Amino acid sequence: MEPIKPVKNYINWNFDNSYSKLPEAFKEIIKPVSVLNPELVILNENLAKELGLDFSKIEKNELSALFAGNILPEGTSSIAQAYAGHQFGHFTMLGDGRAVLIGEHVTNQKKRYDIQFKGSGRTSFSRGGDGRAALGPMLREYIISEGIHSLNIPTTRSLAVTKTGEKVVRENLLEGAILTRVASSHIRVGTFQYIAAKQNIDELKTLVNYTVDRHYPEIKSSKTKAVDLLNLVIEKQCQLIVNWMRVGFIHGVMNTDNMAISGETIDYGPCAFMDYYDPKTVFSSIDKFGRYAFSNQPAIAKWNLARFAECLIPLIDKNENNAIKLASDLIDNFQNIYEYKWLNMMRDKLGLFGKDKDDLNLINNLLNWMKQNKVDYTNTFCNLMDINSDEVYKDNNFILWKNNWKKRSELNNLSKEKQIKLMEKNNPIVIPRNHKVEEALAEASKGNLDSFKNLLDVLKKPYSKQNKIEKYQMPAPRSNKKYQTFCGT
Ligand code: AMP
Ligand code: MG
Repeated sequence: MEPIKPVKNYINWNFDNSYSKLPEAFKEIIKPVSVLNPELVILNENLAKELGLDFSKIEKNELSALFAGNILPEGTSSIAQAYAGHQFGHFTMLGDGRAVLIGEHVTNQKKRYDIQFKGSGRTSFSRGGDGRAALGPMLREYIISEGIHSLNIPTTRSLAVTKTGEKVVRENLLEGAILTRVASSHIRVGTFQYIAAKQNIDELKTLVNYTVDRHYPEIKSSKTKAVDLLNLVIEKQCQLIVNWMRVGFIHGVMNTDNMAISGETIDYGPCAFMDYYDPKTVFSSIDKFGRYAFSNQPAIAKWNLARFAECLIPLIDKNENNAIKLASDLIDNFQNIYEYKWLNMMRDKLGLFGKDKDDLNLINNLLNWMKQNKVDYTNTFCNLMDINSDEVYKDNNFILWKNNWKKRSELNNLSKEKQIKLMEKNNPIVIPRNHKVEEALAEASKGNLDSFKNLLDVLKKPYSKQNKIEKYQMPAPRSNKKYQTFCGT
């Protein structure tokens, strides 16, 4: 295997690596393990442009080597990050077992992004794993994360996928691949849990200060930094979950190591989109008790935030009882913030301005109707925008509900156009539908990326009317076989 050597900077990389300068406990200094025969599968030109990066002067061979970690750009300082996590409620020491952060790229607008290779080989955190990833799941993360981004929901992004030319052993032998993930940071609730578990108060302070400087500079000089940080993260996570609920997204594995302090959606494993409305929807094959079901997401976010609060206790107040009381009050308030935000989000979906005492009823009646009749969540809101006219919407109960909705809309005293505008901003016409994603991945695994690229293209403008997208709008035909997603991919 060729030794790792730096490439000339025609690309405009501007690495400034702050996390790798943190104390030893935070990371392992390690390079990606080079791979046999790298081949670039897809490069996200739009994202590259946003990052101020120009890959046009680089030959495909060199690009492939670059995005496989066989050669590293100048200025990188690669590490595997240490973190812990509650996985399905059980605490475990984890860390990047199959990823390395090669460095932080700072754009001309002074925005800082982690550039991470996922699937880049074993690290000291790999435990029994091989440190690798398979092509299908990396392309899946690519398309769903980019889809979530286009839905205007904070998320990590995907810059490239490269095949490694090596096989990975799963149930079958699969093609290996590396995803280049871009994130505003990879600091997780689990990062705090890892440092807190070591009971070194100075390192905990270092992590709080680092996180505040990077994500919440507005509280930099606060005298109550830990509490303020907790408050801001609660707010950010609440907003994120409300957004997921808006589009029917089920993350599927909301372990504390998969919750980013930045408020970005992170770790696209067994995630999927709900089609027929059922609050209990679960796709993940290992989520036997529905811990991460659609309607459980807010409760789990609150649970995770309580774990985050626990880490901060020593910095909240010298008196532990006072600290616990203060943190508990903030966590208890999650429900109120969530319900308030959720109700407003649902009003937006229905194009309702202002407030009416019966709004919650009106919304719940619609959700109940969808549930009873197993109706598609996304398409129901499209019907209200006169985009979808399926037979189900001729149902009498729905027509009655629609009349009530129209009466409520008239209280707005605003024009129909304004109502539609509000709805168009909040109701996607297309989402990454599970069967369409699977179809695209199946073809990609045979070397044909056409369907993948077509789907990606349609998903770039989820709120716009586009020509010939009917096939992307339809839910999967009903079958006896339940759609399932898998972890540990
Ligand atoms: P995830 O399910 O991707 O959130 O991963 C949970 C933990 O397992 C993280 O510490 C990962 O780095 C680790 N992990 C997942 N897959 C592998 C693998 N193939 N090899 C080594 N570690 C892995
Ligand atoms: Mg993870």
